[in-house]
Amino acid sequence: MIQNADYEMTEILHHMGEDNFPEHAVAPPIFQSSIFSFQTFEAFREALANEDEHYIYTRGNNPTVNLCEEKIAALEHAQKAKLVSSGVAAISCAAMAFLKQGDHAVCVNSAYGWARYLFQTYLSRFGIEVTFVEGTQIEEFENAVRPNTKLIYLESPASFTFTLQPLRQVAALAKSRGIRTIIDNTWATPVFQNPLDMGIDLVVHSVSKYLGGNSDVIAGVICGSKEDIVRIFRTEFLPMGPVIDPFAAWLILRNLRTLHVRMPIHYRNALELARFLEDRDDVESVSYPLLPSFPQYELAREQFRGGSGLFSFRLRTRDPEKIKKMTNRIRFFKLAVSWGGYESLFDPSLVHCRTDQEVPEDKISLIRVHAGLEDVELLKRDLTQALDAIR
Ligand SMILES: *Cc1c(COP(=O)(O)O)cnc(C)c1O
Repeated sequence: MIQNADYEMTEILHHMGEDNFPEHAVAPPIFQSSIFSFQTFEAFREALANEDEHYIYTRGNNPTVNLCEEKIAALEHAQKAKLVSSGVAAISCAAMAFLKQGDHAVCVNSAYGWARYLFQTYLSRFGIEVTFVEGTQIEEFENAVRPNTKLIYLESPASFTFTLQPLRQVAALAKSRGIRTIIDNTWATPVFQNPLDMGIDLVVHSVSKYLGGNSDVIAGVICGSKEDIVRIFRTEFLPMGPVIDPFAAWLILRNLRTLHVRMPIHYRNALELARFLEDRDDVESVSYPLLPSFPQYELAREQFRGGSGLFSFRLRTRDPEKIKKMTNRIRFFKLAVSWGGYESLFDPSLVHCRTDQEVPEDKISLIRVHAGLEDVELLKRDLTQALDAIR
């Protein structure tokens, strides 16, 4: 049976904004043009006076980019979205638009590495103070906010620890104090979670992950109210210039066509691999929010309609040589950073540790897996042979 969400998503991804392509083309045209011209002095002047509503120069708006933005905004139940050149640009533009000297922000400990750098190091240059919280309990946020707090930055779940924040409670607290909230929704995608419906103000994504979905494009997006997105456009996007190329936006439009089809398969494969690993006696633990053994399983069920392909597991062994041997036996998972494409990935924490420093005990045997769209039996067989080799 077709569920309502699928119907809505098909409408957005396959039809919305596509009635008037030149010559009734089925694929959207790529407006690979840096400038747009005007018929009259009056039209030219009117456009310049309202840059966020007109096509003037592609560093501002572009029709191919805008079509993609409209679709992502609709998926996130947002009034407006702005595509930018990377996920990191989305995070920094969104955060900086709401902070100035003397302000305070709250950020989750487990935020994506460069988001942490922004809040911990970069913003201190401008006299902005930041409190980091684990973020699993609302009390931590209540204790962290101050009279000058302007922003709470969330990532739920975090892409290494998979811990969640109670979004409705955080949003209510923030609203009562006039604090903006931003969440990185890259892991769940709008297929499985719509944070704006829970009261969060702004959603950011690394489009390089699932929205792109084919490991062939780097991009980011910010979704929110028209007022907030126009503000970000004017105060951060235009001066900083993290513009996306029309061709990259076209690749995203193409890849989005299959988003609602891809995500349930990532979910099914991840859940199956997570269960399979959990049942092995050489595996110490598996972290996947939609697994009943996950400490915040109830909250995950409440906030997500499903889960994506990324999770982690920890082996019982603490022998780095065994981790290396196992990694070298893997055949059908690619050894690579990032995630969100069609392909399965295998990323041991150990590979990120410097060889001239002692590896923290908790990093030796932690492995992050991305379940792609392959046949899950093939993936299970591959993990089995690699794990059996180091028994
Ligand atoms: C990859 C990633 C980012 C950064 O996105 P880029 O497109 O690589 O700049 C931000 N947040 C999360 C959760 C990510 O996984």
